[in-house]
Amino acid sequence: MAIKKIGVVGTGQMGAGICQVAAQAGYDVVMSDINLDVAQKGKAGIGKLLDKAISKGKMDEAAKKSIMDRLHPVESMAAFSDVDMGIEAATENMQLKLKIFKDLDAACPAHAILATNTSSISITYIAAATKKPEKVVGMHFMNPVPVMKLVEIIRGLATDDETYNATIEASRKMGKTCVTASDAPGFIVNRILVPMLNEAVFALQENLGTPQDIDEAIKLGLNHPMGPLALADLIGLDTCLAICEVLHTKLGEDKYRPCPLLRKYVDAGWLGRKTGRGFYKY
Ligand code: NAD
Repeated sequence: MAIKKIGVVGTGQMGAGICQVAAQAGYDVVMSDINLDVAQKGKAGIGKLLDKAISKGKMDEAAKKSIMDRLHPVESMAAFSDVDMGIEAATENMQLKLKIFKDLDAACPAHAILATNTSSISITYIAAATKKPEKVVGMHFMNPVPVMKLVEIIRGLATDDETYNATIEASRKMGKTCVTASDAPGFIVNRILVPMLNEAVFALQENLGTPQDIDEAIKLGLNHPMGPLALADLIGLDTCLAICEVLHTKLGEDKYRPCPLLRKYVDAGWLGRKTGRGFYKY
C-alpha cells in the first residue's frame, strides 16, 4: 500500500522527532497531542532543530520551509480521517495507550496502519483494543529520532504481512534501518538496555560512585558514547521506570525490579532533561 499521509499522536520528544523524519521523507504529517497548543509546541521545536541544521550549513531555508509546510498541528485525532498511517508516541502507560488506540482506530480510515512507538508494552495487547488488530504494528524509533538509525519492527499476533512490509518500507523511506523483534516485553533494545540503566541507579543508590564517576566509568571503561545516568535523563526517568515496571511485571523476575531511587526521582517530578532535573541539572 502507498503511504502518503501520516498522523502522529503525542508530539513530545519522540513524537516530534518522528514527525520531523516523516516530513523530511516527503510525507504529509498531521500532529496531535492533548491539545492544539502542545502540538504547535512540537512543531516549533522541530523548527528550532532545523534552524540549528541551517546554522551548521547542513540545510538551507528552502528545505526547512518545505519540511515545515508538511507539518500540520491539529486540535485532535478527528483530523486523521484521511491518513494512511497513524503512529502513536504518547506517554508510556498501558491504559493510556489502550484508550488512544480505540480512538485512533475510530479516527483513521479502514485501510490505515496503526503503529505504536511503545518501548515495552505488548503490541498484541494494544492491537486487541482495536477492531483491526491485523493493521497494528510496533514501530520503535530510537532517541533522538533524527539522529538514530534503528527502528525495531514488532509484529503482534495478528499483524498481517501487508502491514509489516509497508511499515518497513515507510521506516526505510525515513532513512532508517529495521530490525524485527518478537512481541516480548522491551523487545530487543530495551530488554538489554533498561536493566543496565536500572543497575546504574542501584550503583548510585549504593554509593558506588557519584553520577559523574558512574557515567565516566562506563564511557571510558566500556567505550559507550554516553554514561547510563545521562542516558536515563535523556530518555526520561518516567519512561525508564515505566519500562522497568513492564519488564518486572510481565517477565515476573526480581532481577527486573525498578530501583527505589529511580521511583523516588519520578515521585519528585525529576524526570531528566525534559523537566530540567534528573541525575543532573539542565
Ligand atoms: P514525552 O513525555 O516527551 O512525550 C509524551 C507526549 O504524549 C507528551 O507530549 C504528552 O502531552 C502526550 N500525551 C499524553 N497523553 C496524551 C493523550 N491522551 N493524547 C495525546 N497525547 C498525549 O515522552 P517520549 O519520550 O516522547 O515518549 C513517548 C513514547 O515513545 C513512549 O511510549 C516511550 O516509551 C516511547 N519511546 C521513548 C524513547 C525515549 O528515549 N524517550 C525512545 C523510544 C520510544
